[in-house]
Amino acid sequence: MKTLKFGGTSVANAENIKRVVDIIKNQAKDEKTVIVVSAFSKVTDLLSLAAKKAAVADESYKDLLETIEAKHLDALKELLPVGAQSSPLSEVKRLINHLETLLDGCFLLRELTQRTSDTILGFGELLSSFIISEAIKQDNKNSIYKDSRDLIKTNNQHGKAIVNFEKTNKLITDFFAENNYQITVLPGFIARSEDGINTTLGRGGSDYSAAIFAAALDADQLEIWTDVNGMFTANPKIVKQAQAIETLSYQEAMELSHFGAKVLYPPTIQPVLQKGIPIIIKNTFEPENNGSFISDKTSSKPNPVKGISHIDHITLITLEGSGMIGVSGSSKRLFEVLSQEKVNVIFITQASSEHSICIGILNEDSEIAEKAINDAFQIEIAQHKIEPCIVEKDLCIIALVGENMKNHQGLSGRMFSTLGKNNVNIRAIAQGASERNISAVIKEKDVKKALNSLHENFFEEDTKQLNLFVMGVGNVGKIFISQIAQQKKYLKENFKINVRLIAVSNSRKMYFDEDGIDLKKWNDLLDEKGEKADHQDFILKVKTYNLRNSIFVDITASESVSKLYESFLYQSVGVVTCNKIACASEYSNYINLKNISRQYNAPFLYETNVGAGLPIIDTLKNLVASGDKVNKIQAVLSGSLNFIFNNFNEKNSFHDVVKEAGVQGFTEPDPKIDLSGIDVARKILILIRESGHKMDIEEISNESFLPEACLKTEDNDNFFASLIEHSAHFEALYNNALSKDSRLKYVAQYENGKASVGLQLIPKDHPFYNLEGKDNIVLFFTDRYVDQPLLIKGAGAGASVTASGIFADVIRMGNI
Ligand code: ADP
Ligand code: ASP
Ligand code: MG
Repeated sequence: MKTLKFGGTSVANAENIKRVVDIIKNQAKDEKTVIVVSAFSKVTDLLSLAAKKAAVADESYKDLLETIEAKHLDALKELLPVGAQSSPLSEVKRLINHLETLLDGCFLLRELTQRTSDTILGFGELLSSFIISEAIKQDNKNSIYKDSRDLIKTNNQHGKAIVNFEKTNKLITDFFAENNYQITVLPGFIARSEDGINTTLGRGGSDYSAAIFAAALDADQLEIWTDVNGMFTANPKIVKQAQAIETLSYQEAMELSHFGAKVLYPPTIQPVLQKGIPIIIKNTFEPENNGSFISDKTSSKPNPVKGISHIDHITLITLEGSGMIGVSGSSKRLFEVLSQEKVNVIFITQASSEHSICIGILNEDSEIAEKAINDAFQIEIAQHKIEPCIVEKDLCIIALVGENMKNHQGLSGRMFSTLGKNNVNIRAIAQGASERNISAVIKEKDVKKALNSLHENFFEEDTKQLNLFVMGVGNVGKIFISQIAQQKKYLKENFKINVRLIAVSNSRKMYFDEDGIDLKKWNDLLDEKGEKADHQDFILKVKTYNLRNSIFVDITASESVSKLYESFLYQSVGVVTCNKIACASEYSNYINLKNISRQYNAPFLYETNVGAGLPIIDTLKNLVASGDKVNKIQAVLSGSLNFIFNNFNEKNSFHDVVKEAGVQGFTEPDPKIDLSGIDVARKILILIRESGHKMDIEEISNESFLPEACLKTEDNDNFFASLIEHSAHFEALYNNALSKDSRLKYVAQYENGKASVGLQLIPKDHPFYNLEGKDNIVLFFTDRYVDQPLLIKGAGAGASVTASGIFADVIRMGNI
């Protein structure tokens, strides 16, 4: 014999019920089958709401009743041929009339007791099981409908009654001994007390009803048919990458369901466990899928963690005070009072100092619990031996579960460091001595991030998801996104890094997609669907999404954007930037950003601040970290100035060459930033700071080669006009170099605490002389590189090398 239970979504409407009838037809071919069904999807909630409204004299309960009636009548009419509808329709109407009378009663009396509530909620299952049984009869006459209330006997604890197994088992076996049908259809969830009053087995209790029948009848297996492919490694609605678990032990399933895996109502396991009957969780919408198999064996797979589950809406109550130390009986009193108030304690921790004890309960119980505890300890509170209890609401418990966790070290370390790295604050921790479960209490707002990062760490073969929020999609930004599109698959396969673009923004618009923006369509999406760009809104969205491994990528040259880094780092959002303004701002700001980055575990990377894609800053960091000391730096750091002076000659005027550099993307949008030397000064400043020396931009001497009048211009047009006006000045510079057999190079240098930038005449034998095109060169003279400096040389400007430098920083974050 088999027992099959179909949940709410499986029987949500006629179309789904037809699937269920097909599944039953297949399963019941050669074996006797017991079918237990839930109410149609959401109907129990509607009944509960209608009853609550009626009890507060809100007449809208009548509309809810109409919705409930229509749902059932529609399904019945679609499932049965017209000729067979009349008698079932009148039975459904009879049930609805009865329900209406009860709701009217609540309305007139302004009252809803737990006992009445049980009777009202039970109508969901009464209606659904009757309709489904009629549908099955169309196909198989050898079937019968039976009201479970006649068979399952409980006590009078309404809302979640306790089953009397002795009586129940006898009634069930007697009934099945007398009725030898191929298919028996029963409503789940409902029962009756020994004195004949309607009860229920608790929300989600149809699973339990099915287990009670399976155990009483020694079924071969219990099948729970639902809307997912089994019990998953985490709730699949929250963790998209979650996978169905093939095999689990009863204990593992119990822990996961107790800690929120709603797919199985926790008490379900007990009756079948005693009889060794396996549970199979299957998907009504994908019946060919194997689902999950729960028995007394766990799987032999190497991963000791089976799943990660969570319970929402938790309140932590802490009772503390010196009056608890060494005083026996405090915890007994605490738990006694909670039990008297029927408050279910889900989580307990006590520090070994005995100074405090902390419990986790449901939010809905928090007020009753707080009052009851404060009343129970009022004498100690009055004597200041114990503090009034501290109540923290809207928390969540997350738990790692696995039978084999006890044999593995380091799992809790890995769990807590993963949460810590993602800036998830842990309020309390508990680990059962069985070591089948490690749980932590966190804020509800962090739950999605916590579950996803833990899932990634424990189940996704070390794949790391990086979530990018990109500001600035000009030349470099566009190429950067196209490079991601090109490399996405490669990075996933070879580096186990999954790069997702979550936001793009230019100065006018911003566009977000929590599931990742299509890398080929971002431009249209930004144009067509983007909202008005606003820095504060942008920050707020990043915060609300609260995604793990979030990275803010600044591809602007804007000062106001550089001021946002601090807020991101504080949220543990990493920052990658090609914008040098932050690192070249006041020393205190630079150091502050580095400190916040360290403190909040949020990398702050800016390799492209100097030399575009060249590995200059990273090399410098490694030198310093390994104990070397930088004594002198000599460099040509402006790709744009190098391009300009390499191309400026008798044939090409200075003005034309500067224009061309702009067209090719080698200068900043405002070319004066390059030509005035500010850009080079910022770069050498960053190198000096990265070498471990303290300096500010004013300390760098900068004698400009531009005439005063050019420097004073206020916009690009005037600037370019001034270059034509002063062409003789530039030609004189050129001719002077030519006459001395030298070349003009814009050189930055640092030695003995002093730094300068400026145009220099470089003789033929100098390593800078042959520097081509827009190349950069840096010479580091250090304690270890004394005679021959460490030299880095290559293209130091251009959109694609800058984009790839930014990309390299993003990948660096993936490897941290
Ligand atoms: P039914 O109506 O069939 O009883 P439920 O809604 O009670 O279905 O349970 C199925 C739901 O449980 C799934 O749709 C899923 O959202 C949720 N769920 C939570 N945690 C898990 C998990 N670890 N594995 C599978 N489902 C889970
Ligand atoms: N219909 C009940 C509920 O929604 C029981 C169940 O679905 O298991 O809680
Ligand atoms: Mg359920």
